[in-house]
Amino acid sequence: MDYEDVRHTDPAVAEALDGELDRQRSTLSMIASENHVSPAVMDAQSSALTNKYAEGYPGERYYGGCEYADEVEQLAIDRATELWGAEYVNVQPHSGSQANMAVYLAALEPGDKILSMDLTNGGHLSHGFKANFAGKVYEVEHYGVDPDTGRLDYEAIEEHAKAFDPDMIISGYSAYPREVDWERFQAIAESVDAYQLADIAHITGLVAAGVHTSPVGVADFVTGSTHKTIRSGRGGMILSSEAHADAIDAAIIPGMQGGPLMHNIAGKAVGFGEALEPEFEEYANQVVENATALGDRLQEHGLGLVSGGTDTHLVLCDLRESHPDTTGKDVEEALEETGIVLNANTVPGETRSNFVASGIRAGTPALTTRGFDSEACREVADCIARVVDAPDDGSVVEEVSADVDALCERFPLYE
Ligand SMILES: *Cc1c(COP(=O)(O)O)cnc(C)c1O
Repeated sequence: MDYEDVRHTDPAVAEALDGELDRQRSTLSMIASENHVSPAVMDAQSSALTNKYAEGYPGERYYGGCEYADEVEQLAIDRATELWGAEYVNVQPHSGSQANMAVYLAALEPGDKILSMDLTNGGHLSHGFKANFAGKVYEVEHYGVDPDTGRLDYEAIEEHAKAFDPDMIISGYSAYPREVDWERFQAIAESVDAYQLADIAHITGLVAAGVHTSPVGVADFVTGSTHKTIRSGRGGMILSSEAHADAIDAAIIPGMQGGPLMHNIAGKAVGFGEALEPEFEEYANQVVENATALGDRLQEHGLGLVSGGTDTHLVLCDLRESHPDTTGKDVEEALEETGIVLNANTVPGETRSNFVASGIRAGTPALTTRGFDSEACREVADCIARVVDAPDDGSVVEEVSADVDALCERFPLYE
C-alpha cells in the first residue's frame, strides 16, 4: 500500500491516502459496520476491471470484451451461492442500500406499503426513513423494539401488520444486538400476504459462518452489504429463490443501475473466496465472543446494555441510567480523541436527537480482524468505561490514548 503511482502524479491525494492508512493503523475501529479487508481484496478492487463496461449478466452482456468480467462475476456468484446457500444471487448492487432499492423495485409498486423498524430503534435509512427515497415512494409504517426489554416484540409486530396490511415487512437492522427470528417474521408476513425482506447488511459474515441463523430459504428476499462482517470490499448483494431471479435482474439493470462496478465485484469474489476458508468460521465466532466479552466488561463497570447483552457483533450501550447527563455524542467525541472510533447511537425510548443520542454502539468485527481476543476486548472496555466516566478530563483522555497506542502496536494492521 505505497500508492506509488498516485504519489508520482498526485501528491495531494497520496498524502490523504497515507493519512487514512495511518489513521486505520493507529486507531481502533469499533464502528459496528466497519471492517478491514485483506490486501488481496484491495488489489482486486484497484484492478483494470474498473475500466470495463459489462452491462448485463455473465454470458449476456450488452458490450463486447466481457470474457474476464464474466469469469470474475461468475466466481463471485458461485462463491456467494456456496456461502449463503441461496438459489439465486445478484452481486451487482453498488451497496446495501441499492440492494434494498432493487428489491423494492422488483417486488413493489409505488404507493405500496412497507412495515419496517424506525431509525431510532435500529432500522436503516433505506427501510423507508422519510427523507429517503423509499419513504417518499412507498407508504411506510414503523415498528420498534420493546422499550423495556430492548428486544423485538413479535406479537406487537404481528398486530401492527394485521392493522396496516403491508405488502412488505423488513427485518434486519443496523443496531440490534440480538438474534432475529426470521421464521417468525415470515409467518407474520405470510399471514398478511406480504413479502419478507431480511436485510442482513451487518451480519452477512455471521450468517455465512453459521454464527447467526440464516434467513436464506425462509425470507422471500435477503439483501446485504459486502464490506461489513463479510470483508469483501464496498458493495451489496441480493439473495433469493429462483422465482424472483428475473425480476431482480431486471430491477438492477435496466431498472436502476448502469454498468456494474466490476472491480468491486472482483473484490467480492476474492473476499467470498476467503470466507469459504475454514479460518473464516473461527473469525466469525471470535467476533461474537469478543462482543460478548466487551459487553460483559462494560456491564461490570456499571454501564447498561440495551437488551442486557448481545448475540452478535455489537453492543448498544445505554448511558441514561448510569450517566444521565452524558450524551452519546460526548462519549463519541472524547473516545475519538483517544483513538477509539465508534458512534453515538439512539437507544429505545430515546429522548435526545439522533445526532446527540443517549447511547453508543460498539462493534468488534474490525478489532477481531486485527487479532483481538476476548481479553484484549475487555481491555478496550476498560478504556471505554474510563472515558465514559470522565469525558471532559484531559488526563484520562491522555492515559487512555497511551493504552490505545499500545493495543494498536500489539495488534498491527496491514503489515
Ligand atoms: C449498512 C446497512 C445497509 C446498507 O448500507 P450501505 O452503506 O448502502 O451498504 C442496509 N441496511 C442496514 C440495516 C444496514 O445496517
